[in-house]
Amino acid sequence: MKIKPFESILSNYKAVFFDSYGVLKNYNGLIKGGEETIKYLEEKGIQWLVLTNDASRSPIQLADKLRVAGLKAISSEKMISSGMMAREFLRSKVRVGKVAYLGTEASAHYIEAAGLETIPVRYINSNNIEEINALVLLDDEGFDWFRDINKAINLLLKRNIPTIIANTDKKYPVSREEVAIAIGGVANLIETVVRKRFIRFGKPDSQMFMYAFQQLRNQNEIAKHEILMVGDTLQTDIMGGNKFGIDTALVLTGNTLKERAKNDIKSYGIIPNYICESIAI
Ligand SMILES: [Mg+2]
Repeated sequence: MKIKPFESILSNYKAVFFDSYGVLKNYNGLIKGGEETIKYLEEKGIQWLVLTNDASRSPIQLADKLRVAGLKAISSEKMISSGMMAREFLRSKVRVGKVAYLGTEASAHYIEAAGLETIPVRYINSNNIEEINALVLLDDEGFDWFRDINKAINLLLKRNIPTIIANTDKKYPVSREEVAIAIGGVANLIETVVRKRFIRFGKPDSQMFMYAFQQLRNQNEIAKHEILMVGDTLQTDIMGGNKFGIDTALVLTGNTLKERAKNDIKSYGIIPNYICESIAI
């Protein structure tokens, strides 16, 4: 599969869904040329949204981070996060009691926005354990791994409550050579130990794509074949886009390294429609 310039594929689409980390920005900040690309889309009347598996912050805070990095055209209405999907679920399924969480205090915003009371896993004890009606895994930061992962495991062994994963990413790049484990990886560990099935939100699951698609359709008539998903991760962005039935472009500025892209595509069997160096045009 040939690497194509990003601009050459854009003319086929009326809307673009971007992943955030590894696509619009990475550990170096905003991706070079990203601002120009967004300008180009706006000039051409191509709609764009950001679909992120980041549940660590509210849409407003996520947009602020991108704006501070230099992406001036971003606003919170353009951000669709897996945390928002988890919030909708909690709102309809967990009506009373407290929701325990692993993650930062900022990430707990999502649960509080659903009108529920939150409690960090570290504060669970024998007096309040019976009041806890769900566990949400939000972010890999904001807790003591050794103590709180064990507490979460014990909570789930004692209580039969739903566990929601608001970010299914297993890892994220912290430099060109190294990765860190993300909350999705922690979730898999806990799930294996407690032998229960958790509920997952975020790419590759279709809820976020559905929500974004609906958002576009609220403004204009649009068909799936007129939308492009751009991502750096085969198992989430590309698989999610493929499953939803929209075209996909893999970029090489994040999780998938250029020298490994062909091999990864072959071994996972997840095939993007295009490969591009980056979103720069
Ligand atoms: Mg990414």
